[in-house]
Amino acid sequence: MEQLARELDPSHEQRKQMASQVMAYAEDYLNSLPNRLTYDHPPENFAPEFPIEEQPVDLREILEMLHEQVNSKGINPASGGHLGYIPGGGLVPSAWGDFLADITNRYSGIYFASPGGVRMENTLVRWLCQLIGYDEKSGGTLTSGGSLANLTAIVNARDAHQIKAADISKSVIYYTAQIHHCAHKALHIAGLSECQIREVPMIDFRMNVEQLAKLVNNDLQKGLKPFMVMASAGTTEAGVVDPLEDIADVALENNIWYHIDAAYGGFFLLTDYGKKVLKGIEKADSVIIDPHKGMFLPYGSGAVLVKDQLKLYHSQHYFANYMQDAIPAVDEMSPADLSPELSRHFRGMRMWLPLRLFGVGPFRAALEEKLWLARYFYERLVETGLFEVGPSPELSVTFFRYVPPEGSEGSIDEFNQRLVELIKSDGRVFFSSTTLNGKFYLRLAVLNFRTHLEQIDLAMKILLEKIELL
Ligand SMILES: *Cc1c(COP(=O)(O)O)cnc(C)c1O
Repeated sequence: MEQLARELDPSHEQRKQMASQVMAYAEDYLNSLPNRLTYDHPPENFAPEFPIEEQPVDLREILEMLHEQVNSKGINPASGGHLGYIPGGGLVPSAWGDFLADITNRYSGIYFASPGGVRMENTLVRWLCQLIGYDEKSGGTLTSGGSLANLTAIVNARDAHQIKAADISKSVIYYTAQIHHCAHKALHIAGLSECQIREVPMIDFRMNVEQLAKLVNNDLQKGLKPFMVMASAGTTEAGVVDPLEDIADVALENNIWYHIDAAYGGFFLLTDYGKKVLKGIEKADSVIIDPHKGMFLPYGSGAVLVKDQLKLYHSQHYFANYMQDAIPAVDEMSPADLSPELSRHFRGMRMWLPLRLFGVGPFRAALEEKLWLARYFYERLVETGLFEVGPSPELSVTFFRYVPPEGSEGSIDEFNQRLVELIKSDGRVFFSSTTLNGKFYLRLAVLNFRTHLEQIDLAMKILLEKIELL
């Protein structure tokens, strides 16, 4: 029995051999990226299988199988040609951070268990709070992504405003039609979907604050309780920022919890331009931001930040007798007291390691570069005279549609649907599409750290090539 059980713990020699196989695969993959498709359409009969059996299997065979079944089909997020949705990242040193976090398996939920690990995560949270412009009372925690961060913030808002079951039908939540759908999901999970919901009208896809103020006044007159306003700092669809400062005035005046979803746009705060566009973000009661977007980390990294950490603590802190050894002797918050998670991935390592290794400079430069690339692409689009374009990109997202010559057969929507399909089956770059005001648009989102001028020029070339084929 012991002999078999010990197979779970390979020897030094075995480890070295297996690690070199894994590293060789990773290096081959990275080296092949320039020649790999960004979108590889799976064949009709593609049905990957992942057998689980009593008998062991050789690692080389497993890696080959993973390559075919997982790493070769669908969207390739590691590719600089990924210009759809909101591209993620995949910094290589983050993988080393994860590797080290997993090998040591440090328990980052509680200070007592890993004072160093928790201190590292708290330092990262503090750095993020400073980026927002929060003071020392602020805090937060690293999450698995924006969705969980939104949920945590929304539950915090509910508890801080003491919204109980009986108050729900009288409490009012304000947002625009452009809010990310994970906010709807979070409201549902938090038991708040039966609040009064006001969809605030927009001007150019941004919240109309005059209308917000009117709605709030109306609701007050009706004896309702305006409870929370949710703004976006970088909408997913159009990449624009709500008027953060003006919304803050309405929220503050009426004691409304002010939540900002900066999952996509938050890290542009590292740039001078971003600081101007996101001015007022520091007035929010809660903010979410996604390091797996704007800091180019692999998926699985979000953060929720709050102006008053004690409120988050009161919303999330629970105690059990079997945890009595974990009461901290020092003044250091534990992630488990600020989030729904107890045991969790030590996700600070994947963020801190690349930050420390590269320094902040390259991150700032990369974000600045993405802003320029989006504007550059937009200007090329306009120059061709072939497209109906949205407004010049406020951050790094823009939307557009091809306008066929007069007298062409078929609707503009149909032309653009075919265009997206042609680009997808080509696969060298990947665009996604959306529907805005009932019209079909293509979207460009520049946020992958491997996207440079070369990829944007290629995207433009492919776009024009495919139009010839329509
Ligand atoms: C990506 C995104 C989310 C969702 O975050 P996940 O990390 O995918 O869970 C929420 N809001 C905005 C604005 C986003 O761009």
